[in-house]
Amino acid sequence: MPVDSTSELLKHYEVYETIGSGGFAKVKLGRHILTGEKVAIKIMEKKDLGDDLPRVKIEIEAMKNLSHQHVCRLYHVIETSSKIYMVLEYCPGGELFDYIIAKDRLSEEETRVFFHQIISAMAYVHSQGYAHRDLKPENLLIDEDHNLKLIDFGLCAKPKGGLGFELLTCCGSPAYAAPELIQGKAYIGSEADVWSMGVLLYALLCGFLPFDDDNCMVLYRKITRGKYSNPHWLSPASILLLNQMMQVDPKRRLTVKQLLDHPWVMKGYSTPVEWQSKHPLGHIDEDCITEMAVASKQSRQLTIQLVSEWKYDQMTATYLLLLAKKRQGRPVRLRAECPVIDRMYSPLQDIQVSSVFTHLGCVWGKVFMSQHPLCPPRYCHKPPPALERTGAHWGQRECVCVYAVPSAAAACSDTCLSCVCAGAGSATKEVSRRREMDQQQSGQQGELDILAFSPERRSRSLDLAGCQVDSGQKRKGGKVFGSLERGLDKVITMLTPSKKRGPRDGPRKIKAQYNVTLTSQTNADQVLNQILSILPEKNVDFVQKGYTLKCHTQSDFGKVTMQFELEVCILQKPEVVGIRRQRLKGDAWVYKHLVEDILSTSSI
Ligand code: ADP
Repeated sequence: MPVDSTSELLKHYEVYETIGSGGFAKVKLGRHILTGEKVAIKIMEKKDLGDDLPRVKIEIEAMKNLSHQHVCRLYHVIETSSKIYMVLEYCPGGELFDYIIAKDRLSEEETRVFFHQIISAMAYVHSQGYAHRDLKPENLLIDEDHNLKLIDFGLCAKPKGGLGFELLTCCGSPAYAAPELIQGKAYIGSEADVWSMGVLLYALLCGFLPFDDDNCMVLYRKITRGKYSNPHWLSPASILLLNQMMQVDPKRRLTVKQLLDHPWVMKGYSTPVEWQSKHPLGHIDEDCITEMAVASKQSRQLTIQLVSEWKYDQMTATYLLLLAKKRQGRPVRLRAECPVIDRMYSPLQDIQVSSVFTHLGCVWGKVFMSQHPLCPPRYCHKPPPALERTGAHWGQRECVCVYAVPSAAAACSDTCLSCVCAGAGSATKEVSRRREMDQQQSGQQGELDILAFSPERRSRSLDLAGCQVDSGQKRKGGKVFGSLERGLDKVITMLTPSKKRGPRDGPRKIKAQYNVTLTSQTNADQVLNQILSILPEKNVDFVQKGYTLKCHTQSDFGKVTMQFELEVCILQKPEVVGIRRQRLKGDAWVYKHLVEDILSTSSI
């Protein structure tokens, strides 16, 4: 049953910045409050989905039925009257696509490791009766252990009569699509998936696509002919395998079953690819149940009964996230006993309450709701006049709003607490409007935005979510709130923009990562200026936030075709300027060419 508002999401998750977007969805980083685990939240607007709504339903149903070490796990589904949220296993390593382009191409050995995991995922997906139909490196994410996870089942199919039955819908990305698919013939989903796996294998080994052209018709012709070049670095064994997978006639193509113990795949391994699920659906773990039962003061029997309903609600999410903790060797513990804050509302630009507002010269924000009996009303003071005037329903719920120390420290050296109801939409709009006005007056726009989204701020808020209060922590100015619990004090510290981190003070220092292009230069401003001068030439529009450039390109009709970020930063070892790239939307290969073009023209 759809719920009315986003409160169901916000009750259980903190929501942070956008980490990706696709054809249908925006994906944000989040944190499950009860377990403290990071998650990815895929957000879909129903009105934007239109005729694609059934695809989302298909994706949800498929993901509920799939539980495998190389398939991204679904934890929770929340449907409101206007949105659908899918809470997923978070994969911090980004897309396999970005990994390939950062390295130009992968060695045969590294490719083999990844390809094992791809075969394992696909063999499992097929064994469950599904064809994925949109296999490409953008849909394989890297988790924190550098393992692959398959995502995006929006185009998958489960033929009623089994996978051997023919399908008719032509879908997927053209460059990875099998010839029979683009010719509009009836096709077998698993056979088409093997073709896409061949294209994917080629992309891993070569760093470019076997069939590529800007013109769709030319591309289709290349695919139906099935002719591609074999670069000189490919070994004879790789050439053979690619040829066996990219056979135009699907009946002559290898099957996934044959791939499991194919000589190329087996090289250096003593056993065929393990494809069975290590995490079968429906398994009930005693330790997780015990922890949940204790925390909720319910019987184990009732807890087992509720978890076994697999409703993909808070119960399922809590159980699966606890299980994930256990598998990683971490304590199977819930954070239910958090002393001050048990429900945390977090920076939500476009969901509910914008997190950072200016009010009377102060930067304030971050609304925390506490329904915890230990949060005494004495901490809920009056709302700020801005909200009082809007008639917001403050006081209806117990909640605490924290005023942070302002960014312009001199303007307001005080910190204060107030109470406000986070659910009041009119108040939100009013506050946002006031924020804009105040920002215009104080000229703080850039700084506020940085405050809301800078990774430093995020990581600090993530720390907070651990709810560990360090009583010895030095406070950075502002008052100490007696017994309001050092937790809240820490909230304020977290919201206090550190002087060192201001956007005007320089680029971020980061460790080398694969999505960072190294330059030989040491002057970040010079690099930034070079990029800034090139972007207009390449028809890239951008918004500058400190050393981050939020870029996008548009079609002739004003539709945003590509969105990405470039951030000039300083690397630690060697101490040179680097450029962090992140694609947020648009075709991956077009993005690759554009960013390469920008960086090479900038001569950095
Ligand atoms: P769509 O269905 O709209 O195509 P996707 O499911 O492909 O959306 O997600 C879009 C992008 O969001 C992905 O390409 C990836 O960069 C990011 N993303 C999706 N799921 C996750 C996740 N579980 N962890 C981290 N990033 C993710």
